[in-house]
Amino acid sequence: MDCVFCRIINGELPSKKIYESEHVLAFEDIQKAAPIHVLIVPKRHMESIMELSENDVETLSELQKAIKQIAELTGVATNGFRLVSNKGTAAGQTVFHLHFHLLGGRDLELTLA
Ligand code: 5GP
Ligand code: ZN
Repeated sequence: MDCVFCRIINGELPSKKIYESEHVLAFEDIQKAAPIHVLIVPKRHMESIMELSENDVETLSELQKAIKQIAELTGVATNGFRLVSNKGTAAGQTVFHLHFHLLGGRDLELTLA
């Protein structure tokens, strides 16, 4: 499988790591769309949010912790940030390994599309 995020997770490709726990890795987006642009990624390969199950309790719990801690760590918790996960090409997904974009550090337009 040729997945760029799996290659980052297994250390084959470099990344600017922001946060790591047993099941989750977070690193800076290579093409930042805002001063703070972090990708929060489960280490286990799954294509999108549709493959994440309620039985994945450890991953879900670690994702929740990662979101909060990264928001605090990067200084956007108070002023605000946006969390986005694209599923499928119609939504603009380009890397087919589940990830959440955490965006902040500037005023973001009030738009859903
Ligand atoms: P998507 O469009 O799938 O929601 O988001 C994929 C994101 O991954 C894009 O914002 C893109 O800039 C980022 N990205 C793609 N390849 C790499 C890479 O090799 N390293 C890092 N850090 N980010 C990447
Ligand atoms: Zn992958």
